[in-house]
Amino acid sequence: MKTAGLHHITAVTRDPQTNIDFYQQVLGQRLVKTTINFDDPGTYHLYYGDYTGIPGTAMTFFGWLRSVQGKVGIGETQAVAYTIPQNSLSFWNARLKQLGFSPMHVESRFGQEVIPFIDPEGMRLELITDENLPHIEPWQGSPIPQEHELRGFYGVSLWLDEVETTTRILTDVLGYESGGQEGDRYRFSVPGNAPGRVVDLVHKPNTAAGIFGASSVHHIAFRASSDEHQLEIQQQVRKMGIQATQVIERHYFRSVYFRTPGGVLFEIATDQPGFTVDESAENLGQTLVLPPWLEPRREAIEANLPAIRRSFPIEVTS
Ligand code: ZN
Repeated sequence: MKTAGLHHITAVTRDPQTNIDFYQQVLGQRLVKTTINFDDPGTYHLYYGDYTGIPGTAMTFFGWLRSVQGKVGIGETQAVAYTIPQNSLSFWNARLKQLGFSPMHVESRFGQEVIPFIDPEGMRLELITDENLPHIEPWQGSPIPQEHELRGFYGVSLWLDEVETTTRILTDVLGYESGGQEGDRYRFSVPGNAPGRVVDLVHKPNTAAGIFGASSVHHIAFRASSDEHQLEIQQQVRKMGIQATQVIERHYFRSVYFRTPGGVLFEIATDQPGFTVDESAENLGQTLVLPPWLEPRREAIEANLPAIRRSFPIEVTS
């Protein structure tokens, strides 16, 4: 069975307010869940996505306020890419410049155009044009005109000192197909029009390991089509001699984690039940929600978190 691609991507922020302002106000991604890290209830876990944060649009951040600054190296996700429509390149270039970000030169990659830039904490993001636009549910409150809205993830680029083992996991276990090679970049993708179909493995021998911290990607999650599919992946990974966790209840999905021999932490997550399990679609993200097992500790948890403002602090015109 094949995965349908990326489910979510989780990174680290040490400044939750700047993070909210950037992902909501600059990129137009809706804050769909304000919760805490279930393994570390003293920190925020913020989720952004399309209207309901469907798989393939969900970018999430752990709010680790005392993190050092991260630096990309091998064994890590080097860039997170979003899809934009082909006619949106100049809109996004202009918008990023106008808001004080410095988009780099547009690159051509596998026949598509790529705008690389750096988010406020140092994470590399890319906007990639695609003629095969994924289906997402637009957020009506977005500051971005609907025709130019991000269409969820395009994919990720991983920096690896050898690409063979990760290639085997992508093709033999997750059902990815090779999409060719350009220089040191090996492309893998899944068919269909879900967002988040591409994983690029970039071969970076003799490159230093990264420093994990703010701006680093903690893990990338792939979609399991069902609970059975998730267990099937877990078994196949274990057969390759890689340790995989039991199924862990994450309230919005169920997860299995394993670290690839290349160093990148992978998660396999179910589509169900999704972010509307504990809030209505229209109210997503607006209050701190806790899973039932942490609700008795709400007062202490809330007292420990920095205050955040979820509405837009300034009106952006473009
Ligand atoms: Zn995750």
